[in-house]
Amino acid sequence: MKQLTIDEVRKMKIAEIGIQITTKCNFNCKHCYVKNKHANTKDIDIEKLKQILCCLELSEVKKVLILGGEISLKPTLVKEVLELLKTKCSNANIILFSNGSNIKPLLDTVEPFSNLKLGLVLSDTSYHRMNSNYKDIKEEVLPQIPDNIFKLGVEIVTDEKLKIFKSDLSDLSKEDMTGIGINASGDIYPDSCIIPN
Ligand code: SF4
Repeated sequence: MKQLTIDEVRKMKIAEIGIQITTKCNFNCKHCYVKNKHANTKDIDIEKLKQILCCLELSEVKKVLILGGEISLKPTLVKEVLELLKTKCSNANIILFSNGSNIKPLLDTVEPFSNLKLGLVLSDTSYHRMNSNYKDIKEEVLPQIPDNIFKLGVEIVTDEKLKIFKSDLSDLSKEDMTGIGINASGDIYPDSCIIPN
């Protein structure tokens, strides 16, 4: 996939941004697109991300995806990125993607940002369940999500279909949006979800 230059992105009316904050992950799923999950991992440089976002027209951004790797392994980065988004895209829906293995620390990290429109997507497919340390989301992870901690939409991706719990985030995925993805190296691609690294 061809990278975009800042000049190309500057001219776009961007509605959706994917930000891969780290390539590090504690799982090893067969279908995973992330290279170097366990060695030579890469974390996004927050100053570089700031510079990229400063060059973009962000007023039309409706959705920001926070992706890994496994984002809960990098709580400081999650916090720094949310701080940045609070000033740059405070009206966007911000959706965090996690494998659910480390949910309590992740919730503690995002709780101070409850004034943002946050959502959480957890993966619950057979690929993930093949990991020996994988928790059953419905039995072990969901009970750890307090109902009243903040207005968090929680969606679980299963093998069969998308099952929606608590808030309904599905309307967001139906929209046809112009998106870009920024990977952990700070490279920019014309797709918010598929981010080569
Ligand atoms: S949990 Fe996600 S990032 Fe980690 S190995 Fe599986 S698909 Fe890749």
